[in-house]
Amino acid sequence: MFAASHRRLNRLTGEWVLVSPHRTTRPWQGQVEEITTAQQPAYDPACYLCPGNERAGGARTAQYGSTYVFDNDFAALTPDVVPEEDDRKGLLVAQSERGICRVVCFSPRHDLTLGQMSVEAIRTVVDTWVDQYVELGGLDWVRHVQVFENRGAMMGASNPHPHGQIWANERMPNEPAKELAQQRARAETGGCLLCDYLDVELDAGGRIVTSNDHFTALVPFWAVWPFETLVLPRAHAGALPELDTDQRDGVADILRRLTRRYDRLFGVTFPYSMGLHQPPTDGDAHPEWHLHAHFYPPLLRSATVRKFMVGYELLGQPQRDITPETAAQRLRELPED
Ligand SMILES: [Zn+2]
Ligand SMILES: [Zn+2]
Ligand SMILES: [Zn+2]
Repeated sequence: MFAASHRRLNRLTGEWVLVSPHRTTRPWQGQVEEITTAQQPAYDPACYLCPGNERAGGARTAQYGSTYVFDNDFAALTPDVVPEEDDRKGLLVAQSERGICRVVCFSPRHDLTLGQMSVEAIRTVVDTWVDQYVELGGLDWVRHVQVFENRGAMMGASNPHPHGQIWANERMPNEPAKELAQQRARAETGGCLLCDYLDVELDAGGRIVTSNDHFTALVPFWAVWPFETLVLPRAHAGALPELDTDQRDGVADILRRLTRRYDRLFGVTFPYSMGLHQPPTDGDAHPEWHLHAHFYPPLLRSATVRKFMVGYELLGQPQRDITPETAAQRLRELPED
């Protein structure tokens, strides 16, 4: 790949990212993040996600034994919105938006992370995601179901208890809408974008981080975040419910492998936003959609130095210094057990 500055096309979104490989030696004089090394207890009486504890607003978290799902007490979206539209001269455009926001506790243990859980326990989380996609996506007005996890205070997670969220929306959000358009355009030329992309990446090899029989995790060619990864099923699949038992075990296994590598990279519980992208649940078939998960970690070169999306990146386009190939190599060299 080019040794000088260049731009790369994100085939999934159609957007460009600038890569500046020559800049990685530049001295760092910016913000240094605090490392939170406090060992968490297995049960925290003050944690609203621990079994049996009271939540703000008066609800109580059940005495659960594996995973636990509940409607967010302070949901950003609610299902009971009266339909409304406004359009003033095509300039002030607004639409009411219905939705359901849920919290998924991955484990009753307050002190674990995905990577510290067993494959069997992560598999229970995967099965919960399957059930939620089927249930929420099955509602006639829900067109998109977003499964995600914000991990670490750096990513805005307010509670260290291992948990994620699910937001079901009336309309497609921006990111999946871009990906739908790109995958559709590729399908019209006769191929699946991510099946074809994975073939190219497996052939090239340099951006692969880890694989099992059913999934591959790689640093995408067009990665924006320093250690961003994309997790892909090796055989074409659209949504999680299409996966058989072995493939669902494969999801659990690849998530464990990848998050353990992340935690070893800088010796801290690696912060990230992670999310699954599954087909729209709009009632149409979506053969063009290839299931995948994104990991967007903010850390750049140590536990305390993060990447900021500011300045040119807000006003122009995203830019990175360390190349995706170097990032993949660093993740690949780490042990995962
Ligand atoms: Zn807890
Ligand atoms: Zn595919
Ligand atoms: Zn995506």
